[in-house]
Amino acid sequence: MTHPTDIVAYDYKAERLCPDCVAPALATGPGEDFDGWGTVGDAIPVEQNLTEIAYAFGINRGDETTFDSDYFPKVVFRDAMGEPGSPFGDGERHTCDHCDEVLG
Ligand SMILES: [Zn+2]
Repeated sequence: MTHPTDIVAYDYKAERLCPDCVAPALATGPGEDFDGWGTVGDAIPVEQNLTEIAYAFGINRGDETTFDSDYFPKVVFRDAMGEPGSPFGDGERHTCDHCDEVLG
């Protein structure tokens, strides 16, 4: 069962990533935005991981206008995707920019 409000992807640093790819893509390296935050990978669900990082770095996930997707991932809901595999209005494909998995 799918829902229009399911999270199917994340927009982060000009890329559209599937939930599996967004956590490893986070800027946790030395000198990066979230320096010192260990990438926990599959240990906890990606949404929980993102919420914990947001809390630790004072990011308000409840209001995505308060941060930029270059800094922290913004969620993409199913109802924003249209039909899987079809082009966006802006020509983007509905696939993950890292693993090429079809989103949605
Ligand atoms: Zn991916």
